[in-house]
Amino acid sequence: MKGLMMQQPLLVSSLLTHAERHHGEQEIVSKRVEGDIHRYRFRDLAKRARCMANALAELGVLPGDRVGTLAWNGYRHMELYYAVSGSGAVLHTLNPRLHLDQIVYMIAHADDRVVFFDVDMLPIVQAIAARIANPIVFVAMTDRTYMPASDGLPGGVLCYEELIDASDDDFEWPHLDENDASSLCYTSGTTGHPKGVLYSHRSTVLHTLAAALPDALNCSAWDTILPVVPMFHVNAWGLPYIACMVGAKLVFPGPRLKGDSLYELIEVERVTMSAGVPTVWQGLLAYVNSQQLSFSSMRRTVIGGAACSPAMIAEFQEVYCVDVLHAWGMTELSPLGTVCSLKPHQVSMPPDERLAIQAKQGRAVYGIDMKIVGDDGEEVPWDNASAGELMVRGPWVVDSYFRCADVRPHRDSWFPTGDIAKIDADGFMQITDRAKDVIKSGGEWISSVDIENVASVHPEVASAVCIAARHRKWDERPLLLIVRKAGSAVTTDELLAFFDGKVARWCKPDAVVFIDAVPLGATGKVLKNRLRDQFQDYFLTA
Ligand code: AMP
Repeated sequence: MKGLMMQQPLLVSSLLTHAERHHGEQEIVSKRVEGDIHRYRFRDLAKRARCMANALAELGVLPGDRVGTLAWNGYRHMELYYAVSGSGAVLHTLNPRLHLDQIVYMIAHADDRVVFFDVDMLPIVQAIAARIANPIVFVAMTDRTYMPASDGLPGGVLCYEELIDASDDDFEWPHLDENDASSLCYTSGTTGHPKGVLYSHRSTVLHTLAAALPDALNCSAWDTILPVVPMFHVNAWGLPYIACMVGAKLVFPGPRLKGDSLYELIEVERVTMSAGVPTVWQGLLAYVNSQQLSFSSMRRTVIGGAACSPAMIAEFQEVYCVDVLHAWGMTELSPLGTVCSLKPHQVSMPPDERLAIQAKQGRAVYGIDMKIVGDDGEEVPWDNASAGELMVRGPWVVDSYFRCADVRPHRDSWFPTGDIAKIDADGFMQITDRAKDVIKSGGEWISSVDIENVASVHPEVASAVCIAARHRKWDERPLLLIVRKAGSAVTTDELLAFFDGKVARWCKPDAVVFIDAVPLGATGKVLKNRLRDQFQDYFLTA
């Protein structure tokens, strides 16, 4: 027998219509690329999103078309989140920190029809425009005063505010199928080309509901949320959707994520919670520390994307009275998988034991199931000792990558994360290692295979291996291990200079260590674990 309930699809636009009707007065404050502070309310956001939806239709954007953004965290980007997805097109957020070749690849692979960009991204847009075969409409996210010259862009550049001004706000959000695609984000955290994760309206709304729960990110209308995690990184961990669902005030930091700038925003706007990668918090803590400041409104911060050290958790909590929620997720998980929020019996534990738990990546939020499996594929026990590859499944976990039908990531209907973890009896997961061959530096991926490919064509290199070595500021940095050819005296400087122009500057290895031989396993595979064990503290001790 079927239930007798209304059939209402779970749509991204429903978050906005809820915010407009029930939290219309709530504020959104943005530090703009233009340099000033902009503020308006959810009801203005909703109105302008409808204008933009009409403008997109005028530009010929059809349901299912991809619309790219190269933009920081700000209100215009938020408008696009709703205007594009709400009208049935697919919002494709592009990471401007990636190498130009990767950006070109992603725009071409996604077949973006329109690309919106913040004005400071003009050099990227000029560099990629000539390299993309399909005609693309470029829109600068600014007003007439700040419009950039359109040099190098044969089709010219449209002005965001002119599109809004020319459009009516009379637009009815279409009744889409909840399984239609709503947004697209590529991950470079795998080997080979970046892979597209295509979220649906349903997966996005379900993720929003679960992520806002008290034991997850714990968001409410009482919060003022500062998403430091970029809106091009898995939808800023869902915060632009969560804020509409719960009616929280939003504060967008724009392009400047330095400690002084963030601190000022936090204090002036009375921010209660924030979210970002450990590197950003290190900068903030260093600033607050050096100026002997304190936080007067901030109650908690979500730290994820890379492991958060117990020292950082302790400093936030003990010195600044800001609770840390350590979280783990992936682009393929929309992104939330686990959050380390304590269970009642853990709160009274001695501080050291509690801190050790908080340094774990946490327990699964409802909707995500997880297990760890050994090399034989069998599940290993949750005994806080046995480690295995972390596998997940759930309604906001990727099924297959966009336009990569041949790549089936699953094993027995579980998604293998490439992370190695253990789980304790309370269900708290802790990442202990990584099976995938990538380095995460300040929240951004660097492919060790790409680095090795460049180094190995150097005429004096016999073998090259690149590993992730721990780093105080960036979490991890690439360390290059080189076996020279017989008789070669090639130097570190010569090898590092060889990378110029071949990889993005921030992807260049930080150092080279010369070794006699590369350790190989029985099948001839490089034993990277052994090299990691030997050299992973290189930057901490050098
Ligand atoms: P991304 O798809 O770029 O969000 O990267 C996801 C990957 O980042 C995960 O598979 C982990 O390897 C890593 N990661 C994310 N959060 C954490 C965390 N809290 N601790 C350690 N690694 C993390």
